[in-house]
Amino acid sequence: MNNNTNQEEKKRKILVLDASVVIPSSEVTLLEGLKVTVPEVRGELKDSTSEMKFSSMISSGELKEMEPTKESIEFVRRKSIEMGENLGDTDIKLISLAWELKSSGEKVILLTDDYGIQNVASMLDIPWKGVFQPGIREEVKWKWRCPACGKTYNELVRRCEYCGTQVRRTGIGRGRKTT
Ligand SMILES: [Zn+2]
Repeated sequence: MNNNTNQEEKKRKILVLDASVVIPSSEVTLLEGLKVTVPEVRGELKDSTSEMKFSSMISSGELKEMEPTKESIEFVRRKSIEMGENLGDTDIKLISLAWELKSSGEKVILLTDDYGIQNVASMLDIPWKGVFQPGIREEVKWKWRCPACGKTYNELVRRCEYCGTQVRRTGIGRGRKTT
């Protein structure tokens, strides 16, 4: 039998990269598969070394910037709000891109160490993978906050004890840039 047939049957993997995995120590360049991201990730890189890494991945053609459609973005935004995830625009766009690629039948994996992104990806059935420390989840401190009266909770409650409003998560994931 020839190998080409097997190669063709094995579907190409598409890796969607979050800013949290484009850092100097990351071995993300060693991973096989087409690597894509959204242009806004560039603005979320943590330091100049990460920016250099990102730029060289782009100029070598190893990493491609893609834009999800407005429809996907709206869909993902609505879903994440429904589940109380307070994600930034870049995070929403990344998930949208992964969701869109997956919906078009691609074999996609979202690479992120951001717990909020992982959460929404799980809910949308998008396969994801963390890249760094396996113990990362324990380092993340989450809080929930009532958007109406401002009361904060350290544990998940669906409704605010004081005013009955649906409580939103406001935790800061490791690597999430706060502006
Ligand atoms: Zn309240």
